[in-house]
Amino acid sequence: MDYVEHVADLVGDTPLVKLNELTQGLSPSVLAKVEYFNPGGSVKDRIAERMIEAAEASGELPPGGTIVEPTSGNTGVGLAMIAQRKGYHCVFVCPDKVSEDKRNVLEAYGAEVVVCPTAVPPEHEDSYYSVSDRLAAKEGYWKPNQYNNSANPESHYHSTGPEIWEQTEGRVTHFVAGIGTGGTISGVGSYLKEVSNGRVRIVGADPEGSVYSGGHGRPYLVEGVGEDFWPTTYDREICDEIISVSDAESFRMTRELAKREALLVGGSCGMAVVAALRLAERVDPDDVIVVLLPDSGRGYLTKVFNDSWMASYGFLSPDHGGGTIGDVL
Ligand code: PMP
Repeated sequence: MDYVEHVADLVGDTPLVKLNELTQGLSPSVLAKVEYFNPGGSVKDRIAERMIEAAEASGELPPGGTIVEPTSGNTGVGLAMIAQRKGYHCVFVCPDKVSEDKRNVLEAYGAEVVVCPTAVPPEHEDSYYSVSDRLAAKEGYWKPNQYNNSANPESHYHSTGPEIWEQTEGRVTHFVAGIGTGGTISGVGSYLKEVSNGRVRIVGADPEGSVYSGGHGRPYLVEGVGEDFWPTTYDREICDEIISVSDAESFRMTRELAKREALLVGGSCGMAVVAALRLAERVDPDDVIVVLLPDSGRGYLTKVFNDSWMASYGFLSPDHGGGTIGDVL
């Protein structure tokens, strides 16, 4: 019989899918590493597993302990899935602006969700930060802190990076990814540079206004990428280049990916693809660009894939979301 013991055994080994429609007129191959094939639906399944295993090994997470993390999204799902398998409890702390749908997903996996008011200062005892710190200080509680946990980039060094190298038979020339914690780009980047003797170019994609591309944290709407501070999980030496992309470009490309490549993915994926296509216009014709797509579009149906939401920010292209690549690039 062909089966796995647990759904968590299916983390990793995600496929590369060639982009054919959006790359018309461009010679380099653009291959998407589609991370929604992970069982929790995102790239974050990879880090959840490794962060938990490292904390077990160091004794920070005792048997039957509680994992507490301020997260409302993909990392929470990954942690909850692995925690369920291994018999840990999860408490996720999120601000009240987080949609009910996202909270419901975490609760569906058996996690407890604590909702904190957004309208209080960070030092207030009910703030998102205060509550998670107070919980994490309790006996038997452990906070993974994905922004300051070396197991995050290490998971990509040991899984995502080698997968890309093997899947492309060492022919990858450029790797493109968005930067949130920086774990993906730092881990994959250091592996690919090492194995190729520095030949592979590492290109970050960043929302306009984020610190990684020289901004000061100006607000943007793409979720999961860009920061207003420098996390320790980001290796500031790893990128050869960083391409900044506007919200409008990111979201229009996200819709194009669904409409023309049948890839229903999240907004940070559209952002990374804009950067990858810009790169494809100017690199050698036989180069091979791998672009990582972190999650599925299912979590954004009421935003990116909703015309009223898009129109309210002026993001719809003139012909009602159809748009052409010319509009986007
Ligand atoms: N896109 C999405 C949707 C994410 O949730 C994340 C993780 N914050 C990223 C991109 C960026 O990945 P990383 O944290 O590894 O830089």
